[in-house]
Amino acid sequence: MVDLDIYNEESGKTYKISINKKATFSDIISALLEKDINIADESILLTKGKKIEVDKTYDFSDNQKITLRNRKSLESCGINFNDITKQTIQKLKVRKKAKGYEWLTVSPGINLFGICENKNCKAGNKEVIQIINDCEYDLVKKRGLMECPMCKNKCLANTVGFYKCYYNIYGKKYDEENNKGETFGKLIPNFNSIDIINDNYVLIDEQKYKIQKTDGENFFKYEETNGNATFIELIFQVNKF
Ligand SMILES: [Zn+2]
Repeated sequence: MVDLDIYNEESGKTYKISINKKATFSDIISALLEKDINIADESILLTKGKKIEVDKTYDFSDNQKITLRNRKSLESCGINFNDITKQTIQKLKVRKKAKGYEWLTVSPGINLFGICENKNCKAGNKEVIQIINDCEYDLVKKRGLMECPMCKNKCLANTVGFYKCYYNIYGKKYDEENNKGETFGKLIPNFNSIDIINDNYVLIDEQKYKIQKTDGENFFKYEETNGNATFIELIFQVNKF
């Protein structure tokens, strides 16, 4: 057995527990419960700055301090979405009006992908695309939801695609280990109304912003191969051709 210090970040209190040298997440939780210390469902434990995974066994013989973090506050403000910071782009040929697949119609600018879960919908259980007419779209403000183009029911947006446009993605990804939002990209002021003369960046008030561009012919869809992430902020900006 080893003695462990559990430091509760929120209250600043430290609890002492005894557990086996080799222990799991549930062993620690059980030891805490034995001392009548209740922790919230969404809390996480960290050892040496890393999150203790539920399904792994850890050796605590050399590490006597564990941090208890209530991650609810920041993470719960975010949405779960395709981790577009890690994904590659799938280039898709766009066909003229595919009859019978109206729910897969795309348009220049932002296009959101999701699965319509309405069994009575023509596109029920199928992948659907919502065309976003706005040039700037904040998906976190929409709680990560989109609308089925057929039945107009709300469903979760899984990924995004762009067509015939310059585009920019700005956001803050939730970093679980450090409990903070990590910024990626930059928000471009009035991106939809600026004249773009360079395909790689724009210059606004002497600030350089990196931009992306579809190739004009193909549809650019962010693949869903490297999993999801929690985004505290996620904004798509486009400047259509
Ligand atoms: Zn539908």
